Amino acid sequence: MRQLITFVTLIVLSATANASKEDHLHGQAVLEMSIEGDTINYLMEIPGENVVGFEKKPETTAEKDAVKEASDILTNNKELISLNYEAGCNVTAQKGSLHIDDEHMEFEVEGEMKCGSPSSFESFEIGLFKFFPSLTQVNIEMITANGMSEYSVTKESPFVDLK
Ligand SMILES: [Zn+2]
Repeated sequence: MRQLITFVTLIVLSATANASKEDHLHGQAVLEMSIEGDTINYLMEIPGENVVGFEKKPETTAEKDAVKEASDILTNNKELISLNYEAGCNVTAQKGSLHIDDEHMEFEVEGEMKCGSPSSFESFEIGLFKFFPSLTQVNIEMITANGMSEYSVTKESPFVDLK
């Protein structure tokens, strides 16, 4: 079992490294979730275009305020991902950050949840759409001890049912 866990961790790390080199698609966010025991780690990447409406270094007061407000939501709002109530999951750490390169800007959210009843985890809702209305799709990679699954949710149907 220990070997398997190490292997899963390696997959998570390499997926993260690859994702940062690829260009994002405007309108679409990427979410990676890894589940190990009672702990869920997640990493979201959201195009700046869909969070604040621009992708360049914030210069004006309005732009700086927009980044500050978005970072506040992405760090403090605990409903960006909502699991079914029975799983008893609570966000224990979450941090939003801003990344700018030559062509794009994106916001990243790294977080962790602890679940009181992880075996009851059977569905979740992506809450991001409520805060960033120009976002239309979130592409999800979920890694568990059983392997990797991919899901895609839309603003109209932001739910994933794992049953
Ligand atoms: Zn972009």
